[in-house]
Amino acid sequence: MKKYQPITPEIIGELEKIVGEKYVLTSLAARERYQTDEETDPRFFHMPEAVVSPGSTEEVAAVMQLANKFDFPVTPRSGGTSVSCGAIAVYGGIVLLMERLDKIEKIDLAGMYMIVQAGVKTIDIQHAAKEQGLFYAGDPCSAENCLIGGNLATNAGGNKAVRYGTTRNQVYSIEVVTPTGEITNLGARLKKCSTGYCLDQLVIGSEGTLGIITKATLKLLPLAPYKMDVLAIFTDVQKATGIVPILVRAGLNPTSVEFMDNSFVRVSSDYSELKMPHYEDGSYVIISIETFDEEELEKKIEKLQELCMANGATDVLDANERVWTLRRNCLESTMALSPVSTSDDFVVPQSSIAKAIDHLSQVAGNYPFRVFTLAHAGDGNLHFQILKGNLSDKEWEDSLNSFHAKAYEYIYAQGGRLSGEHGIGAKKVRQLEKYTDPVELGMMRAIKKALDPKDVLNPGKVFNI
Ligand SMILES: Cc1cc2nc3c(=O)[nH]c(=O)nc-3n(C[C@H](O)[C@H](O)[C@H](O)COP(=O)(O)OP(=O)(O)OC[C@H]3O[C@@H](n4cnc5c(N)ncnc54)[C@H](O)[C@@H]3O)c2cc1C
Repeated sequence: MKKYQPITPEIIGELEKIVGEKYVLTSLAARERYQTDEETDPRFFHMPEAVVSPGSTEEVAAVMQLANKFDFPVTPRSGGTSVSCGAIAVYGGIVLLMERLDKIEKIDLAGMYMIVQAGVKTIDIQHAAKEQGLFYAGDPCSAENCLIGGNLATNAGGNKAVRYGTTRNQVYSIEVVTPTGEITNLGARLKKCSTGYCLDQLVIGSEGTLGIITKATLKLLPLAPYKMDVLAIFTDVQKATGIVPILVRAGLNPTSVEFMDNSFVRVSSDYSELKMPHYEDGSYVIISIETFDEEELEKKIEKLQELCMANGATDVLDANERVWTLRRNCLESTMALSPVSTSDDFVVPQSSIAKAIDHLSQVAGNYPFRVFTLAHAGDGNLHFQILKGNLSDKEWEDSLNSFHAKAYEYIYAQGGRLSGEHGIGAKKVRQLEKYTDPVELGMMRAIKKALDPKDVLNPGKVFNI
């Protein structure tokens, strides 16, 4: 591990000159507040030495120049909703809060795009587009708390990726501060472009290791006027998740296909104080269909109901906002059962999701922890929420390590990967290094070394150099 320069009074003075005194925090309370993101396991917490809030791209650049001059690490942080320890300052140094860059600069109706600073909340982008009769398709379940810069850095997925793709598909261009403190614009507002390397897409999804995103030009879409959410309830999990390839083959082109197992239905209903159908035995699949034509919607819903009933659904109902509340509250609802838990984020080919959930649930059943299952089923992306409960630290660590070793072997054998949307962060560095082809890993390291020779931007994330 590299030894960095601790943050000295001289560095604090320089940071204050850049962003203003009140935007540099060094109190224990402030540092404690940013010692974790959504990570609940104190073993992964790490206190930064200072918390810095720049108010402009130029200030971000000046902070990076200072980090290179003095050799201290910088961890960018947006909403802090990372569940892979992405926003934790694992090597100390400073946490750089992006939340002051919070302006929607422009919405262009004719060109159908929006220019936003990186600290705008995702939900505000969705609302601003809708107010203009347009649609922003990025929709992570954390939309109320995460910021667009964080979504871009992690290439967030979410509820609508099955139809519209992940965050990287919603972007024309980004403004970036490089690890050495230069400002550049990557990408262009073009439908197509074959002009040099696609560096915007390299920085997007790099989890803040190759640049700090300060602004983005986002694509907007026409807002479909007709929409319906259907709740298909199954008592057989295999049949519930097995519906995905059937819907895809039928050409229904759903906007969302979200799965939650019965344990999640129960715990989230209790937490949300909602009385839900088939509480006792139902696993839920929420399927959304959107169209520009009313008749087409009716036909698709009819077909959807037919397919679900013919393939094992116990009930097919109109879903309403309550079902989405239930879905959104899933993770929070398990906190009451166990303050420490971990969120797995396996991704497999879309057609393998049912088999993968079945196999991994059986493997997980051999361990002493409790497991709840969610899936962005249409994306082949499954989340296991694993609860520590009363296990000792050693039992927790040993059982998780053993489960993960088996799970990752299986996932890779299916052609899957370690993360579908949450990223590697600091949490899966060892696994990424183990499961990635050495040539591919070498290419990633070469890029990181070329762009960040001192390894000052978000060190300890994705892989070690
Ligand atoms: C309840 C809940 C539901 C969730 N649902 C989803 C979901 O449906 N889909 C999904 O993909 N994820 C989901 N997540 C995970 C998380 O919300 C996403 O990873 C999100 O994109 C993180 O955004 P953030 O603003 O909170 O970023 P942070 O957590 O602050 O940061 C995430 C990473 O990006 C880096 N970073 C942050 N800002 C910048 C920037 N401006 N430039 C460069 N790097 C930066 C950080 O260093 C860190 O590595 C969920 C999390 C929770 C708690």
